Amino acid sequence: MKTNTTCPYCGTGCGITAERTSDGSFTVSGDEAHPANLGQLCAKGHALADTLNADNRLLYPEIDGKSVSWYQAIDHVARAFEETIEAHGHDSVAFYASGQLLTEDYYVINKLVKGWFGTANVDSSSRLGMASSIIGHKRAFGSDTVPGCFADLELADLVVLAGSNLAWCHPVIHQRILAEKRRRPEMFIVVIDPRSTTTSDHADLHLRIQPDGDCLLFNGLLAYLASHDKLDEEYLKQHVNGLEEALQAIGELPMEHLAERLGVDLQQLEIFYGRVAFTPRTVTLYSQGVNQSESGSDKVSAIINMHLATGRIGKPGTGPFSLAGQPNGMGEREVGGQATALAAHMDLDNPQHRDVVQRFWDSPRIASKPGLCAVNLFKAIEAGRIKAVWILGSNPVDSLPEADTIRAALQSCPHVIVSDVTTRTDTLDYATVRLPALPWGEKDGTTTNAERCISRQRALRPPMGDARADWWAVSQVACRMGFRSGFTFDSAADIFREHAALSTTGNDGNRDFDIGACASLSDQEYQDLQPFYWPWRSGKPSTQSVRFYENGHYSTADHKARLYPVSAARPGNRDLSDHYPLILNTGRIGEQWHTMTSTGYAAALHAHTDEPFVELHPHDALIHGIKNADIIEVRSPHAAILLRAVLNDRQPLGQIFSPMHWSDEFASQARVDSLIGRRTDPVSFQPAFKNQAVSIQRFDAGSHGYAMLKHKPDRNLFVDIDYWAMTPIVGGWQIEFASKQNARELDTCMAMRLTRSMQPCSMEPLTCLDHANDIRRMAVFEQDRLQLLLFTSSAPVPLSRSWSAAQFETLWNERSTRWRMLTGRPAIDLPEEDAIV
Ligand code: SF4
Repeated sequence: MKTNTTCPYCGTGCGITAERTSDGSFTVSGDEAHPANLGQLCAKGHALADTLNADNRLLYPEIDGKSVSWYQAIDHVARAFEETIEAHGHDSVAFYASGQLLTEDYYVINKLVKGWFGTANVDSSSRLGMASSIIGHKRAFGSDTVPGCFADLELADLVVLAGSNLAWCHPVIHQRILAEKRRRPEMFIVVIDPRSTTTSDHADLHLRIQPDGDCLLFNGLLAYLASHDKLDEEYLKQHVNGLEEALQAIGELPMEHLAERLGVDLQQLEIFYGRVAFTPRTVTLYSQGVNQSESGSDKVSAIINMHLATGRIGKPGTGPFSLAGQPNGMGEREVGGQATALAAHMDLDNPQHRDVVQRFWDSPRIASKPGLCAVNLFKAIEAGRIKAVWILGSNPVDSLPEADTIRAALQSCPHVIVSDVTTRTDTLDYATVRLPALPWGEKDGTTTNAERCISRQRALRPPMGDARADWWAVSQVACRMGFRSGFTFDSAADIFREHAALSTTGNDGNRDFDIGACASLSDQEYQDLQPFYWPWRSGKPSTQSVRFYENGHYSTADHKARLYPVSAARPGNRDLSDHYPLILNTGRIGEQWHTMTSTGYAAALHAHTDEPFVELHPHDALIHGIKNADIIEVRSPHAAILLRAVLNDRQPLGQIFSPMHWSDEFASQARVDSLIGRRTDPVSFQPAFKNQAVSIQRFDAGSHGYAMLKHKPDRNLFVDIDYWAMTPIVGGWQIEFASKQNARELDTCMAMRLTRSMQPCSMEPLTCLDHANDIRRMAVFEQDRLQLLLFTSSAPVPLSRSWSAAQFETLWNERSTRWRMLTGRPAIDLPEEDAIV
């Protein structure tokens, strides 16, 4: 049977068709009818079926590490919140979630926290990705609305990609743009990014501006367009306020001066500005490189200002386009699932909105002031002001800035309730209560993608064990606390109908988000719901892209858009010093998702990248005495970590890059966000993940090792090994080691620990001390299969990883041939050669 559902990773929200095979497993393919992806999927989407049978599922509730019934767990959590609120007040409790949750989960959480607890202490990891865009939208349009749709990217003549490595982070959208470029080679693509990336490889123009140069670049563009008479005077007169103030804030910006401050070639800058000036169909697509900054909100405003001043918005092939990173960051915003918002795109600081929501919910109270945003929420836990926190679908111990402080905060918090799907994450280690949640494939509800398309995420099979939906667990706790009147939901459909009804309540067209037509969906209609675009007030839904503000009628009081005055600071990093001379930029790779709690277990997604790494320019490497594939220590004032060095002249001089995915589950010391300071944008409170002053130095390893096992080893086996990184491979797991110990010591300790970790029946070890090549070699067989391989040396182990991994499949029934396993293969894919992207 085929089931149409939605990918749980990025904000593209690709439609997926999943089919059960005769052996009970699933295959997935792109849903050709889904408007977001038209049948395409990226590597992560294709590997979804591999994540369905993880043997690390959390299946039963636990209190203090002991399995309990849901009844006991709910009772415990309800009492924890009750007693905490009674003793310390409503603001002493908090929820922290993520854009991975479904809209229905979020609706219930938000309702409980804001309507019954009476606090707005509910925030999420979406704060780390999109908060600055929300501010930019609301400043300009009076509403958090993405004006355009994906089709605009194909209709544009000029596509500007600002702070987005689209090819890796939103691959399907990138492919849609490239397909259009093949059809219309005259389409012009500009990439604005300090780094050279796969995305910039496909650009007609790459502007490698200084970190955080975006405000200055777009301010300069607005000034250029004004001075070249390229603003849309009629549109400005009819539909926009604030041009004079915006231009005043920019002041004089001579081109030579601008190019010098941005660190770009003057001619390139003139080409960019000239292209924009003469291309009415311009889309500016931006993502984390814009948002994750101390000036993120102003960057977004500077981009939107240009579009409003040229009237390039609400028309085919135009518009500023914020690309949501998470699959349901948009749905979360629609239910007001952040500390700074109310439900259904209403505002916490608007008494009328509060009244609408409280009356609709018939709730005893309503939060009346913003709650604590992600970074401040965990600071409050650290300070002891928040004493009970419920974390859902998020791993803040790895993903928040100064991530080590999150550990200390959670350790000191009396009640840490964590809902997750796996038995172990770095956050679950600190949970007093663990609740088994539903993973993709068992969840049922809706998500909204980056272009406002709402799609169903459907269950492919019943829940395993006692895993339950987050909305169910939160509703049960609410009922146990005596709030039954607001939380008697029977299904996700029930919740969606209520969410839809609230979106249209008191909404006479002055709130963009309105899906009132869904309030009367039957259970069957909800089950069969096809992807549609909001708004859907009545009648039939739009299954084709819908564009906002086509009539120039905005959601502000006077229905005019507002240019927000932005004065840009000098790009770069003011914290650079002799101690911390380099800028660390963090981001993602194409095959992994967030902290790898799902994608980390799919062998296919490690084919190109199997270790945490840092990219640096060869000249910076030379200055620091670092060679390709060395292990290096990256240090900031907040932490130090160990990563594999990848020398790459695509990285700017003085700047290094590392992806944020690796957690303590997969590597020894590679939590990149532990390096990042807790500085945030002052308005959006979004942390600045892309501009951290750091130092680097070569890790002086006395020995290196490589091991392959049939099963995943317990990471505690490596607790005293300085560097290790663990990766699933087809048929088993591989581990890379480096240690200050000498090779003999490393070999003795790892051989003992790894063989003990196996369940021996008739293990047959083969060992060889290869003095000539300074390599200790060991292979362990059981019957006719290889079970373990361990090579250690004082230098990086010269062994072909791909050849070795393939030997798990080989039948070794001739004992006399087993020595070949110890000989290995030439090291054609050593880490230092090509195992790392
Ligand atoms: Fe589509 Fe994003 Fe999923 Fe890839 S990760 S399949 S681009 S939704």
